[in-house]
Amino acid sequence: MFQLDDTIVAISTAAGDGGRAIVRVSGPDAVELTGRVFRPATGAIEEMGAFRAADGLVHLTATGIELPARAYVFRAPRSFTRQDVVELHVPAAPAALTSELIDLGARQAGPGEFTARAFFSGRIGLSAAEAVADVIDAADDAELRSAMAALGGRIERWCAEAASEIADVLAGVEASIDLAGEDITLDAPDDLAGRLDDLVRRLRTITDQAVPVAEGTGPTVVLAGRVNVGKSSLLNALSGTDRAIVSAVAGTTRDVLRATMATVSGRRVSLADAAGFAHPATPLDAAAHRAAHRAVAAADAIAFVVDATDDEHLDDDLTLLADARAANPRAPVLLLTNKTDLLPPDAAAHLRRWEERTGLRPIATSALTGRGLEEFRSAVADLPDLSGAGGGEMLGLHRRQRRSMGGAAEAAARGADILRGAAEVSDAADLVAIELREALAELGQVSGQIVTEEILGRILARFCVGK
Ligand code: GDP
Repeated sequence: MFQLDDTIVAISTAAGDGGRAIVRVSGPDAVELTGRVFRPATGAIEEMGAFRAADGLVHLTATGIELPARAYVFRAPRSFTRQDVVELHVPAAPAALTSELIDLGARQAGPGEFTARAFFSGRIGLSAAEAVADVIDAADDAELRSAMAALGGRIERWCAEAASEIADVLAGVEASIDLAGEDITLDAPDDLAGRLDDLVRRLRTITDQAVPVAEGTGPTVVLAGRVNVGKSSLLNALSGTDRAIVSAVAGTTRDVLRATMATVSGRRVSLADAAGFAHPATPLDAAAHRAAHRAVAAADAIAFVVDATDDEHLDDDLTLLADARAANPRAPVLLLTNKTDLLPPDAAAHLRRWEERTGLRPIATSALTGRGLEEFRSAVADLPDLSGAGGGEMLGLHRRQRRSMGGAAEAAARGADILRGAAEVSDAADLVAIELREALAELGQVSGQIVTEEILGRILARFCVGK
């Protein structure tokens, strides 16, 4: 999926950032290539040792322009990617500098490629790779602190500790098979079960106390409802993007259309359009339906949209609403009665029909005129599950990490139960070993020892180019 051994280049400051820009180069030719565009005031860049900075001039051949610049050289393996890395800090023209380096033989880095190199070189683990994305995306201080903590590998350290404890118990269990009948004292089933209980408690404490971090930007609100009620129009109106741009950003790794919306409190929320949730009309739609179903099931809140001008399909709305609730019973539901611009001014009684039948207080919206959108933003900000857990030193866990740690806790708990029911460890060894191996596999998913390309691809798709 990734080429890891060529030399890549990208602008690593955000577009439009005032002041200096940073162009980052990583790979075997990083020093040689930058040496051809950058001249230090004294000496040569090739002679600079590890982690050295030098001021000098960047010379752009294409335009003949010279810029004052500072170069930072990080020699392999003491760099983020464990390759030679050079960062050129320039006051302007980072794009021209990047193309110059590409002309000289560097390759334009794709999103997340620097982080991918750091990951594959063992420099950072998977949670840390996710945290890099979060540091870039962090919406507020609390998120940033938690992301920084993860960057230090806190979650991985915990999972690695838990994994080594489980591996230890597993060794005891397997010893009971290998050494059965020999004249040595083996662990008693209750002792091993007790160690697993401690571990399960610890894992559950972590997953219970951690602040959920949704994959993407902040918590997710999914827009569900019948076709043509205005879900995608609302998505566009609320996010201030148009569909074409949204799809381009969403790319191919996203299964449903997503965009970011700011709530009144400034917190960012990811909006997902669960088009296709309604019903798969053709077999071709089945995949879209499954994707929409997953989006609804995974959302932190459901915004259920109905067409306020169309109460002939109210029963269909109700069926679909029940489906959405069944798919995600935890999620709070907001009801949006859309297209109210088409209703006569005295239509309050009309809207009340939905209120009576759903038991939800409708937010009267119009994607066309913008009516009710602020009310919706503020309702989302007020949702209990989205208010954030107050920040502080809370640990942020991605849903995937939470699922894996929860899965590990469950498998270990099952192992403990089986052990407790056994007179000798060897009686239950096979079954317990299966559970403990599963727990290890789950923990490995978090600490990055077992990583499927699919998971990694999804995470890296979120990175900006240059990170
Ligand atoms: P979706 O299938 O639920 O995503 O619905 P769309 O967003 O594609 O909208 C279906 C049609 O309804 C389009 O022609 C929209 O322009 C129109 N529409 C959506 N929202 C409103 C609204 O608030 N007022 C009016 N008048 N038309 C709307």
